[in-house]
Amino acid sequence: MAPHADLIVVGAGIVGLAHAWHAVLRGMSVIVIERDERAVGASIRNFGHLCATAQSGLALEYAMDARETWLQAGAVAGIPVRTDGTVVLARTQAEADVLEEFHALRDDAVRMLTPAEAARLAGFDSPGLVAGAHLPLDLRVDSPDAIPALAAAIAERGADLRYGENVLEISGGLVRTNRREYTAETVVLAVGHDVDRHYPELAAEAGVQRCRLRMMEIEAPSGMTVAPGVFTGTSLLRYDGFASTDSAQRVRAELAESAPELLENTVNLMFTQRANGRIVIGDTHHYDTTLTPFEAEEVDELLLDQFRLLFGVPDLTVLRRWRGVYASAPTGPFLMASPEPGVVVASVTSGIGMTTGFGLARAVLDELVSSRQAHTAA
Ligand SMILES: Cc1cc2nc3c(=O)[nH]c(=O)nc-3n(C[C@H](O)[C@H](O)[C@H](O)COP(=O)(O)OP(=O)(O)OC[C@H]3O[C@@H](n4cnc5c(N)ncnc54)[C@H](O)[C@@H]3O)c2cc1C
Repeated sequence: MAPHADLIVVGAGIVGLAHAWHAVLRGMSVIVIERDERAVGASIRNFGHLCATAQSGLALEYAMDARETWLQAGAVAGIPVRTDGTVVLARTQAEADVLEEFHALRDDAVRMLTPAEAARLAGFDSPGLVAGAHLPLDLRVDSPDAIPALAAAIAERGADLRYGENVLEISGGLVRTNRREYTAETVVLAVGHDVDRHYPELAAEAGVQRCRLRMMEIEAPSGMTVAPGVFTGTSLLRYDGFASTDSAQRVRAELAESAPELLENTVNLMFTQRANGRIVIGDTHHYDTTLTPFEAEEVDELLLDQFRLLFGVPDLTVLRRWRGVYASAPTGPFLMASPEPGVVVASVTSGIGMTTGFGLARAVLDELVSSRQAHTAA
């Protein structure tokens, strides 16, 4: 007989695991099916930066919910969750003005810093600092360790995690993989940017594309240690909370004048430090439905040049490089849809899945429970 569960989750990245986590805590039987032998997707290739503060609207709501879940899940799953927040470095007056405006709107969650305070918090003296801000609510995890630890904690709570099985077909409560068949009351498809492999019309309607990013790990310059995640001026154009301020337009205009290549490659200069001391730096963004396999060397050089300027050091030692891919859509940061009865597609269509995934998953499960109750009552 085909193995059966209340919930089958397809995909063991953060979005799939977040659904499995909330479902096992609600007492549901859960099977997670992942095509690779271990998760190697966006969820382990990212900064592990849980940047709740700079979100807006539904993303802010999900991010604040997810923040609490990361703290609780981290405590029981033995995942170190850093609570040092984010430091934002402003190197022009327009960047400082964005921070002032954001502070005026969100003074509960933003603390303005002098250049000396910002340098102290960031762990290095960046040349030309004008101001800074601390976002103390933001969290950070080391994703390559956190994702397997979360999966193990979910398995310990009774879920059946099946790795190395590719889901080929979902129909009428039946899930067929390249190895066997399963049945479930509900299937959540959490395959990130691969929604089009299963539901091409849905993906096309929502305009889902793949966003590819370049990332590197470097040796910490002069052995620096930095507890918070670090954002810079380009980050002020990426996150809605900052980007919706009036001054953000001046930051964009300044960059268009001084460094248009940063806008052309949609660069977000930011970094976090791993537990082993290495600094994860990134990133660049290029969008397409089918991505080119070719990586231009000058894009890495552009990133490295910017970090040399930021750190004020002529040489950086690159230890590892990689590409990451996530789903992106013009329709908003979340794709939640039910393309057929008993199936929910859940994808974070913006680069904030680590920050918001747990919040999205709770909303999906709440909706499932209430529609089931309505169905039973009818
Ligand atoms: C370089 C980079 C940096 C980022 N930085 C941050 C950050 O600092 N903070 C933040 O909040 N977000 C960040 N993001 C975004 C975040 O990583 C993603 O939004 C999030 O990881 C998406 O999670 P996911 O589970 O949907 O996708 P994934 O992690 O890609 O997981 C999807 C899983 O589904 C599996 N799968 C696909 N098809 C099938 C199938 N047919 N059968 C079985 N399994 C299947 C895949 O193998 C994969 O493991 C970053 C992303 C990248 C790439």
